[in-house]
Amino acid sequence: ACAISPKAIVSDACASYSTLERLNNNVKPVVDDLVQTTDFFSYYRLNLFNKKCPFWNDENGMCGNIACAVETLDNEEDIPKIWRASELGKLEGPRATHPGKSIQRAQPQRPLQGGLGEHVGESCVVEYDDECDDRDYCVPEDESSGSKGDYVSLLRNPERFTGYAGDGARQLWDAIYRENCFQKSSFPHSASLGKISTPKGPAAMDFKAVIDAAGRQQLLEQERQVNPMAPFVAKTGLEAEDECLEKRVFYRVMSGMHASISTHLCWDFLNQTTGQWQPNVACYKARLHKFPDRISNLYFNYALVTRAIAKLGPYLSQHSDYTFCMGDRDQDAATRAKVLAVTQKAASVPQIFDESLMFKNGEGPSLKEDFRNRFRNVSRLMDCVGCDKCRLWGKLQTAGYGAALKVLFEFDNNKMPEPPLLKRTELVSLFNTYARLSSSLNAVQQFRAMVEKEESPS
Ligand code: FAD
Repeated sequence: ACAISPKAIVSDACASYSTLERLNNNVKPVVDDLVQTTDFFSYYRLNLFNKKCPFWNDENGMCGNIACAVETLDNEEDIPKIWRASELGKLEGPRATHPGKSIQRAQPQRPLQGGLGEHVGESCVVEYDDECDDRDYCVPEDESSGSKGDYVSLLRNPERFTGYAGDGARQLWDAIYRENCFQKSSFPHSASLGKISTPKGPAAMDFKAVIDAAGRQQLLEQERQVNPMAPFVAKTGLEAEDECLEKRVFYRVMSGMHASISTHLCWDFLNQTTGQWQPNVACYKARLHKFPDRISNLYFNYALVTRAIAKLGPYLSQHSDYTFCMGDRDQDAATRAKVLAVTQKAASVPQIFDESLMFKNGEGPSLKEDFRNRFRNVSRLMDCVGCDKCRLWGKLQTAGYGAALKVLFEFDNNKMPEPPLLKRTELVSLFNTYARLSSSLNAVQQFRAMVEKEESPS
């Protein structure tokens, strides 16, 4: 009775903000522990530098060059070089290249080139299984490229303010919302990308209510004045519209991811006058507080990923193929215990998201493939992000949501899939995405308290 239906932008008595926040108080310590203290979950393998943006020429000032990122800062010249967008967006720490399949077969324990840092057990980070399958919602990282990607330390490269903005960033978000949200397809180069399908039949209907941001905003603003805390946004004119459920979920996942990124960049913000990293309340107000639908979508994503993690728990505890640190039994056992601690906390509330409603009625089933393909498009779009750190976290989070959707829609706990449902990179991205959402919820709560304090008469 307490599950959030994907249909619900509507307020739900059980799964309100406060329910999710209470859950998060229990989840956050264990998920932080997992992603911050284990080698397996703190290194991510991805192809960060070798892929070209497949949709537009990123050398043309749209998103790929430094000038585009720098453009947003008014007086870039006047601030120390290390605070400039081009510097803030760079990756830090050692990177190591993937050893490649043939070398792995010959010498499974061969140290990685470049090293992964002083105290890292290499057997805990190398991924051996590169195969992809049809259940994927994301483009496998090694697709159409000889390179297997680099291992990057997530701890050394936190998601925070980088100064990446301007036309490049805007074009990216526009492409994500406009081109991938089940409108009539105008995707730029779909013909040249064999795998991108265009919407079929009724699925091609536009998604006007969502795209019509101004109208939507007005409705939501009105509603907020009635109840600024309205969880999952109580009934508005929008909900009355007969939108396809799957389209709406797709939009909410994207918007919730966007909201989470905005939360982190406002929370870990560089004051370019003082050089201090600190929360920026004005940034939060401008990007999130004024837009309850964005916050609602963030909480929606939290519920969705919580459900995926909870659903995965029994599978991970039974599936012996998952060794979290090959060659080191103690580390394997310690990491496994931490993973299960997270899945247990996520499962400690009644089912929080009801995925069984999706892809069922009307055009639902025919939308599933379309939904998956569109999600893959978004993951390809991440190669157009013109700031290394933003691209790292953008890729990780799209892969994380892709893994969550795969668990929700392609996996039945009564039928153990072969090959294993998730590859190492998918597990790492899923749990790190959960950790990102967990920290976003926490930051939003603290921001909300700051705003209340600011606004309360002294
Ligand atoms: P943007 O955030 O660029 O938003 C563009 C438009 O989208 C807005 O005007 C609004 O109409 C709409 N919009 C905004 N939020 C939402 C929402 N939640 N739901 C629906 N619609 C919305 N910058 C960093 O500093 N650090 C990062 O780690 C980082 N990572 C990024 C990752 C990706 C994949 C991308 C595309 C950008 C990233 N950026 C990052 C840039 C950042 O997201 C913003 O684009 C930038 O700060 C400029 O913000 P803006 O105020 O112009 O609005």
